Amino acid sequence: MIASKVLDELKRRFPNEPEYHQAVQEVLISIEEVYNQHPEFEKENLIERLCIPDRIHQFRVTWVDDQGKTHTNMGYRIQHNNAIGPYKGGIRFHASVNLSILKFLAFEQTFKNSLTTLPMGGAKGGSDFSPRGKSNGEVMRFIQSFMLELWKFVGPDTDIPAGDIGVGGREVGYMVGMQKKLTHEFTGTFTGKGREFGGSLIRPEATGYGNIYFLQEMLKTQGADLKDKVCLISGSGNVAQYTAEKVIELGGKVVTMSDSDGYIYDPAGISREKLDFIMELKNLYRGRIREYAEEFGCKYVEGARPWSEKGDIALPSATQNEINEDDAKKLVANGVIAISEGANMPSTPEAIKIFHDNKVLYAPGKASNAGGVSVSGLEMTQNAMKLSWTSAEVDEKLKSIMQNIHEACVKYGTESDGYINYVKGANIAGFMKIAKAMMSQGIL
Ligand code: NDP
Repeated sequence: MIASKVLDELKRRFPNEPEYHQAVQEVLISIEEVYNQHPEFEKENLIERLCIPDRIHQFRVTWVDDQGKTHTNMGYRIQHNNAIGPYKGGIRFHASVNLSILKFLAFEQTFKNSLTTLPMGGAKGGSDFSPRGKSNGEVMRFIQSFMLELWKFVGPDTDIPAGDIGVGGREVGYMVGMQKKLTHEFTGTFTGKGREFGGSLIRPEATGYGNIYFLQEMLKTQGADLKDKVCLISGSGNVAQYTAEKVIELGGKVVTMSDSDGYIYDPAGISREKLDFIMELKNLYRGRIREYAEEFGCKYVEGARPWSEKGDIALPSATQNEINEDDAKKLVANGVIAISEGANMPSTPEAIKIFHDNKVLYAPGKASNAGGVSVSGLEMTQNAMKLSWTSAEVDEKLKSIMQNIHEACVKYGTESDGYINYVKGANIAGFMKIAKAMMSQGIL
């Protein structure tokens, strides 16, 4: 396999999908050498079979707003690969959602799920509907219409969706309700459910906590820890909130958080009490991060990201491509020692190159944010066993999974000079497992 040739061919066949091309490119470059040590893979054209999704469902979603106006959105489910388990991956509701973004997310999810050591394939779905500014009734009616199509493609042994950007507990609840109504069954088809109807403890916290457990392992390789480290966090949604919570608990100092309008910089640090304010603001009132600056009198920068502030650790937790080459240069110039991604693909390839060239610790989301889907996997297990584990039990399992993922990255990603290339490590470890499963199952 020549990575550049495979990529050119994918670009020709699937044009205008830049995020999908970007995600595939990153993986192909890092697995090329290992792939070519296995001629049996090339003989069965494993690489194209792994890059192109198994199946794509696309549908129109029609709903009526509070003023009686009828809207149409697009709905999607990308079932990327189920070689190691049923399709599994979140649902994203955001105005920017399109096929390219969901294909990149489903591709990444396949590798991430493989890394978790749990039996889950990769998928992703969503809509270009944005819950921002919509009433509860509008969100519910949209979701009920979305589910009229999605329910046919999902199920506890087929495809198990969860949350992502714009899809939290409220949205998952409405999806579960409609699934139940349409199928006449109560099954564990979704994860991220409410506690009252089969949700797992620690699932809301899992992506953020997992990212910090991974970061702790990275820091340990340099004899460092989180105590008194200044952390820059982007986003203020689910992942950002619980990332901040764990950093604060472990003695680090969070100085930034953001939303799509701008970021706040609080040099005194976001305390537990101030984080409670953010959680209430975002989760209950669905307010804007600028209101934090108004409440506590700190700096708010409209229309910008927090990467020009000085920090020891960067924890991007908002969206894809939110750290570009210039941002990466600023972070490095300001002395960053580690970047651990809560979001999916938040760093551009040029930014990643800057981190690698400067030998800073850099964890790609497919490794460091795998805690979310891992606890989703544990939620599936609890649902199947019809029992629920305590917070401590789930947290312990999460920690151990993140440590195992770190170990796999070290095993496959350590370079001759001792630098750990976590991108290479995660991609090779994830790839080998899927490749072996696909080879065992015949040409499909
Ligand atoms: P939420 O919707 O809860 O929060 C997203 C946050 O990011 C919000 O603060 C949002 O601001 C901001 N944001 C979204 N889009 C943009 C944008 N285009 N530019 C700037 N800011 C933006 O989502 P999550 O916290 O669940 O997800 C965040 C990231 O983590 C995503 O990349 C997701 O794929 C990834 N992830 C999530 C997992 C999970 O368990 N939830 C698991 C693994 C990865 P605003 O409110 O203004 O829209």
